[in-house]
Amino acid sequence: MHAQEEIKKEISHYIDACMPIIYVDTLEIGMYRTLVEEIANEKRMDYASWSLYGGMHIPGISMPTNMGRDLLTTLENIRDDLENKLFIIEDIGSQLERPEVVSYLRHIAEDIVSEKLNDCNIIILSPLQRIPRELELYVTLVSRHAMDNEGIKECIMEFCKKNTRQKPEDFVDDFMKTLVTALRGLTKTEIDSILSLVVSKHGRLDMSGMSIIRKEKQQMIKKSGILEMINVKETLDDIGGLERLKGWLKKKAAVYSQYYEAEQWGVDIPKGVLIAGMPGCGKSLAAKAASATFGLPLLRMDMGRLMGKYVGESEGNMRRAIELTEASAPCILWIDELEKAFAGIQSGGSGSEVATRLFGNFLTWMQEKDSMAFVVATANDISKLPPELMRKGRFDEIFYVDMPKAEERKKILEIHIKKRRKDDLSQIDLQQVVRETDGFCGADIEGVVRDAIEEAFVAKKDHLDTAELLAAIKRTHPISETMKDSLQAMKSTYKDKKFANASA
Ligand code: ATP
Repeated sequence: MHAQEEIKKEISHYIDACMPIIYVDTLEIGMYRTLVEEIANEKRMDYASWSLYGGMHIPGISMPTNMGRDLLTTLENIRDDLENKLFIIEDIGSQLERPEVVSYLRHIAEDIVSEKLNDCNIIILSPLQRIPRELELYVTLVSRHAMDNEGIKECIMEFCKKNTRQKPEDFVDDFMKTLVTALRGLTKTEIDSILSLVVSKHGRLDMSGMSIIRKEKQQMIKKSGILEMINVKETLDDIGGLERLKGWLKKKAAVYSQYYEAEQWGVDIPKGVLIAGMPGCGKSLAAKAASATFGLPLLRMDMGRLMGKYVGESEGNMRRAIELTEASAPCILWIDELEKAFAGIQSGGSGSEVATRLFGNFLTWMQEKDSMAFVVATANDISKLPPELMRKGRFDEIFYVDMPKAEERKKILEIHIKKRRKDDLSQIDLQQVVRETDGFCGADIEGVVRDAIEEAFVAKKDHLDTAELLAAIKRTHPISETMKDSLQAMKSTYKDKKFANASA
């Protein structure tokens, strides 16, 4: 069924079930206004609507546009006339910051629930999910489902019929399939406007328009402010050690690069990996290098940014992030500091409810995901993460990144010296430096190299030598010293979990 029809049916059910406030989370307000009006006509109900722009609107009755601009006054005026009516409210955002509006809506909702007011529903159409706590009990949230491939195909065909002389059945090869994949995660309005843009630039729909679609999608990601598209230079060669993790990533990338053949062969499409462990030891570096290894764009989701202050806002952000990720597939989704969003679950505090719901949405997506969005989640402290997350089937593998061993420290040193003073490498006694950096993480080692090079430059030396590096080590307080206790606690948590060691 078309996503729009599905939502229409859902709203219709909620109206029949006398849900007092039905909150439709959408950017396509005009389209949903029409849809609700259609429902009202089908149910032989009256309807009225309010927006900041047009004030109060009742079909068939013309009113001066400045009348009813204030929502509270409108509610007071319409209160006795709400029976057998759908009352649509748009532009709710700032209105819900007014306690008197919230209180009035709550009273109407109470009357609907106690049947003092019959056959009435308030329908809110808004992209924001700012539901005040006082209204939470009375609000039923309707979220649009991402359109399925059939729905997208219908949109394309409808667009062609209206706007071009092209017939979709004349599309060559698998162009329809490619176009459908490229338009995944978009709303009907977004699809229409992107296709219009392609046609206005190229005169028709064909492969030459794909770059426009890609650009538009990048714009959407930027506008959302939830995900960030990162350009990376890092490859697996920039990581010293972590050989097992690197080998594993290469294998998964090989499956991704031959997706169709792999699927035919019965190979499951890789879902993603959780890389957890010590700070400064290359977890983020591995997420970035995954992008180059898979040859796919990298989207970064910052869990801290996802958490909103209003009820439902965080879930809304999570849903949007998932939609945007699906829309950008094939891609790598890097979820940084995974513990930030889900750590509150076991706390039992007020944040734990939100965290639990957020977590549920995320797990369902991970479980059902069939798109080519490979998730790389990174976390420091997993002790507070819910155990369900670590069960097999969510991630393909969970890797534990420990402090680098001697051999790994040598490789990290080589990488960072080579990057800056390639010719000096052969003159340095790496073994001695390695011995002195026991307990240093990758970031500490990089810091030592940077510091030593700067000192050598300021001292007007013509090359970097071992003595300079040893002096820099003496000046450094490695993380194992500054965070001794918390690292010890982390280490014992990881020991119990028996995760795969990222090092060979
Ligand atoms: P955090 O948990 O604090 O975010 P992290 O494990 O994600 O830390 P990174 O951000 O990947 O650590 O590492 C910080 C920097 O340290 C990297 O940009 C890189 O320059 C250097 N580094 C860390 N580990 C390695 C490594 N194994 N090989 C090469 N460089 C490394």
